[in-house]
Amino acid sequence: MNLQILPLEKHKPRIADETQLAFGKQFTDRMFVMQYKTGKGWHDARIQPYQPFALDPAAMVLHYAQEIFEGLKAFRRPDGQVALFRPMDNFRRFNHGARRMCMPEVDESFMLQALKELVRLEADWVPRSEGTSLYIRPTLIASEPMLGVRPADEYLCFIILCPVGAYYKGGLAPVKIWISDHYVRAAHGGTGEVKTGGNYAASLFAAREAGAKGYDQVLWLDAKEKKHVEEVGSMNICFLFDGKLVTSPLAGTILDGITRRSILALARDMGLDIEQRALSVDEIFAGAENGRLSEAFGTGTAVVISPVGQFTYRDQTVVLGDGKTTGKVTRKLYDTLTGIQYGRLPDTHGWVDLL
Ligand SMILES: *Cc1c(COP(=O)(O)O)cnc(C)c1O
Repeated sequence: MNLQILPLEKHKPRIADETQLAFGKQFTDRMFVMQYKTGKGWHDARIQPYQPFALDPAAMVLHYAQEIFEGLKAFRRPDGQVALFRPMDNFRRFNHGARRMCMPEVDESFMLQALKELVRLEADWVPRSEGTSLYIRPTLIASEPMLGVRPADEYLCFIILCPVGAYYKGGLAPVKIWISDHYVRAAHGGTGEVKTGGNYAASLFAAREAGAKGYDQVLWLDAKEKKHVEEVGSMNICFLFDGKLVTSPLAGTILDGITRRSILALARDMGLDIEQRALSVDEIFAGAENGRLSEAFGTGTAVVISPVGQFTYRDQTVVLGDGKTTGKVTRKLYDTLTGIQYGRLPDTHGWVDLL
């Protein structure tokens, strides 16, 4: 497919102070868009000025949430070059989600080529200071105006970019986690393993309740027994239990995170044993008390790693370490992964994709 590049008439005002960049609020000058129609396929792929869409109020995405998205980042390296991190993994996951949501798949290598062209054109928007990056949001929505519940016949696929500031300004900071014994994120047979909007809308109520109680994130348990750990907020979760790295298995209810995959590979490199099994709440509480559980952290593109300082379940709280210091293994994994992303360490796994 041909990729059209439309002219840009004017640049947006920029936030010059990179410490003032908030997550997901400022977008770059251009965006990638393409359209789909049943019978015609994907067409009109273009890079155009960033602008609102004119969507029909009956567009199916607005009613039944037939949509998926992705999240990845571009990093500025010490030599000024810009690199994407495992972008093909994101486009493969995008297509996996498209199939589950009855949406048309995209051509993964075309998407990567279009993304690279877009980031090349917007390269000046990739921030330069420590810990900053360009967050990339590919999205696919059902645009057909129709109120019936069925897969749409028209879609819009787009990619937008936003420069984001350093998440940790004062170093890695452990968070307080509230384990929900009531709300669930995903059930077997549902869409928990897909980055589809409805999952996130459905998580807001519990997150707000956790916030009101003074916690940073919700830890989701399995929907059936409400016993085993699945994810934390919209991150995967890892534990250092008996000196092994333990993380919930990919059983359809959790997102197959690319940060999770990367952390597992790096942990193996460090000689750690990996166990993909669901830890129970009882194991967390007993383990924190008898020392078998020494560290815990969430993983995801936006924060990379978010160390956990304490867990609360019903009216009981356990603290890991002193609750304020990031564990050694957590820190080493964070430093190694960000080192590879920013080009400070060798890319031993072939994850880095230069523009
Ligand atoms: C995106 C996401 C993750 C993390 O995936 P990454 O590819 O590492 O960014 C984990 N859990 C949920 C629910 C997510 O939406």
